[in-house]
Parts: sequence; C-alpha cells; structure tokens
Amino acid sequence: MTPATGAILFAGCRPEVAGGPDGRILATGARARAAAGRSAEVVRLSGRALPGLIDAHIHLEGLAGRKLGVDLTGVGTREAALARVEVWASRLRGDAWVTGSGWYNDAWPDASFPNRHHLDAAAGGRPAYLRRKDGHSAWVSSAALRLAGIDGATPDPAGGGIDRDAQGEPTGILRETAMQAVSAIVPPADDSGFDGAMASALAALARLGLTAVHSMDSARGFASLQRLYSRGRLPIRVTYNLPVADLRHAERMGVRSGWGDGWLRLWGVKAFLDGSLGSRTAEMLDGSGTQRLPQSELVDVVQRCARAELNVCLHAIGDGAVRRALDALAPLRGAWAYWRPRIEHAQCVSPQDAARFARIGVIASMQPIHALADRELADRLWPDVTGHSYSWRALERTGARLAFGSDAPVESADPLAGLDAAIAWRRRAGWHPELALSRSAALQAYTSGAAYAVGMEKDTGAIRPGMLCDLTVVDDGRVVATVVGGRVSWKRRNTRAVSRRSREGAR
Ligand SMILES: [Zn+2]
Repeated sequence: MTPATGAILFAGCRPEVAGGPDGRILATGARARAAAGRSAEVVRLSGRALPGLIDAHIHLEGLAGRKLGVDLTGVGTREAALARVEVWASRLRGDAWVTGSGWYNDAWPDASFPNRHHLDAAAGGRPAYLRRKDGHSAWVSSAALRLAGIDGATPDPAGGGIDRDAQGEPTGILRETAMQAVSAIVPPADDSGFDGAMASALAALARLGLTAVHSMDSARGFASLQRLYSRGRLPIRVTYNLPVADLRHAERMGVRSGWGDGWLRLWGVKAFLDGSLGSRTAEMLDGSGTQRLPQSELVDVVQRCARAELNVCLHAIGDGAVRRALDALAPLRGAWAYWRPRIEHAQCVSPQDAARFARIGVIASMQPIHALADRELADRLWPDVTGHSYSWRALERTGARLAFGSDAPVESADPLAGLDAAIAWRRRAGWHPELALSRSAALQAYTSGAAYAVGMEKDTGAIRPGMLCDLTVVDDGRVVATVVGGRVSWKRRNTRAVSRRSREGAR
C-alpha cells in the first residue's frame, strides 16, 4: 500500500490506528504504521482505543441553556437552591427573568414540591422559570404566572397540570404541557450568547470522550448548530431530532431522515407519549400517570413519519406508554429502507412486551445512568415492576437492538459512568443484578448500536478500515483522547504515555 499523504497515526494505543486525509480509517494494528507512512503526523497516546462513543439521547439545547441560567444541579436542599437563585437574581439588570434548571426535590430532606412564595423572595419579585432536573415540571414565581395569565381560574391544559393550594390558587409548580404557557414567554438569550454556550457544551462532551450525539432539540438548537458549523468544524458529530410540533414543516419541506452530512444531520421526530417517573407522570399499565399523546394522534404521527421517510423517537417511560408505542409501530414494520423507529427511555417494559422490540424492529434507546438516580424512587413508586425496569439485559436477550445515551442534562453525559451503570453498578448495588449487561453488549449499545439507530452503521461504531476515524481512547478508567474524523477533538495533557511505557519496560 502506498502511504497516503496527509495521514495521521494514532500510536501507543491498542490498537494503533492510521487515519487518512478523508477522515476515515486507513488501517489498524500491525498495518497502521506502514499505511500511515513516514511523513504522517503522529499523535502519541496510551491505553485502549475504542470505537468513538456515541450518546444516543441528549439535549444539547438544555446543556447550552444550563450555562445561561442558574444551575441548580446537585443542590441538596430547598434553602440552598433559593440561596443560589438569590445570588443569580441579584446580578440581573432591568426586568430580566430568572431562568434555570436542575432542581430535584426528591433528593432534598423535605421532598415536597417547593412553591412560588419561596421563589418570589429569592428572585426579588422577578419572573422566574426553573425547570426541574427531569424537565417534566417547572417551578415558577408569582410574577411569571401573572405574565403568563395563569391564575386560580385557569383550567389544566390537556396533558398537563397546574398544582393548586387549598384555596385553588396555583402553587407555582407546573407539570408537563402546563409548563408551555410560561416557557413560551421567557425572553430568549441572543443568538451569539446562545451559540457561545452551545460551543462550550459541545467542547465539554468531547472532553468526556463522546464523538457523536443524537440530540433532541428544537429549531433554536438546530439553528445554533448550523451557525457553529458554518464557522468551522464541530468538535463532535450531531444528529438532530426535531420535535413533533415541527413535523408538518418537515413534511412540507420534504426533508427526510439522513439529510445533512456526517457532522450535522437530521434523523427523527421526537414525540412524548408520557411524562417521567420522578414527576409521577409515567404512564403505567395500572392506569396511573399521564397520557401526553392519545393513541389516535400517536398512530397518525407514526404513519405520517413513515410516509415522509422520517424516523420516530417515541418517548415512553412507563410500561403503558411503551405498550402503546409498540402497538402504534407494529403495523409499520419495514415501512421504508431506513425505517428505524426508536422508543426513548423504555424504563419499564412489561415482560409480555419485551420480545416485541425485536419482532417489530424497534430500537430500545435507553440511558443506564437513569437507574442510579431512580432506584429509590422506583422501589417506592414501582414496587411490583422494578424487576423489569431499566431492563437492558432482558431486552438484549430477546434480540432487541439497544442504543445507549445519557439524557443529559437530566443526568451526567459521562459515557464511562453510563457504561459502568450498565455493566457493574447493579451487582455493586445489589439491585436486580440479573439485568446487568456484559461489557461487550454495553459497549455495542454506545457504539454500533447507537450508529445503527441513526442509519450510520456503515460509517461509525467500529474500528475498521473505511470507517470514519472516530476513536475514544481510554486509559486507567479515564478518557485520554477523543478523535473525530481523524482529528484530535480533545486530548489530555500529560506524560502518561511515556511513564507507562517505562513502567512496562521495567516489568
Ligand atoms: Zn430526554
């Protein structure tokens, strides 16, 4: 083989990999050095090169937005959350809103939902809109309710709820679709501020070892990604999934799944069938929870998507919502060449439904890291069904294709934490250890499985000549480099490669 000019050699890792000037893998292992040639740029690494890790369910807009508002992630009490809001609000000018996210009352000593009176004082009377960690409810101030025109006489919208006190007045907690009346009037950050936050969110994901993500966002995030891309290279690949509210626009435009290129492309339509476990809105077979999308509308959405050659990403957490999703998808098996419908989360799947995933050709897009945060709550709210909740192994055993992700910013985007949750955590925690996944199966779900879930299995998900040169290099349990399209997106600054070799030499 004639060495390619412009080649790059990733040396010192196992396997070594030669990347070509087109961003694809030329050769691996013993053949890599010869294929790269003497003039190749050499990047010295240590540890193991894995196929680039892909997060199959993430919210880039949420990650960017978190940098623009007060971040209440990990705050341990209501008082501490309010103190953080107060500091943030004191720095705002004019009539600016207090926005933020990440609060999580289930982790507070007093787990009851907070109210607007707490928030009014901390926000200094400003309108405030704070999304709960799971994004399924919001904590808003009295000023925000006033601006949105919500009072004691406002009825609950379909698919949502306005929490009320004993007098029937709104408490300041809005659930599911009831959030929209306020979120719609929050003044957006200007584009350049948002793009800066988006760029830093993408860079942070590259540092975690991710080479690609499937993002569930709105037009705003997609527009921001396009602006960043037009100004240069994105640090990681992004597949964008649009909200179901935009389906009619996509239909009229005639865009299809796969439109775009390897860096930024369009794939599915995301629709919510139910809520979340934490917000008590997961739709269960026992009749509890919230049905966000009635079956007739769901059937209409999936049929329209199949006709438009768009894929679907159906958010279904409870076993009832999962069954409805499978029912709606069953008649559409093989609707077109790249019809690859996905159920997002599938946190609770009835044993009667598990085998239907493989039979109907539905991808289980799951986030193992959810199990860690949800375990206590699941034991409490789902005592009879935890044996088939977060059941990666049970689904894999039936032949279902898995695609793993994080749901960040709901949970950490760290893929190594996600892998650990899928492989080892259940045994350590003693929580249904029979549902733990093997290392190779978990890795597959983060690589080739995730690639398949957006029709990119011929390009990413494996280290093979001809595939895109996307690598996550891991040494001693941490990411040392992220390579996307044959270029280093991030590399840890250290001298480990040298010290390790000398240590091995001394052995
Ligand atoms: Zn999500």
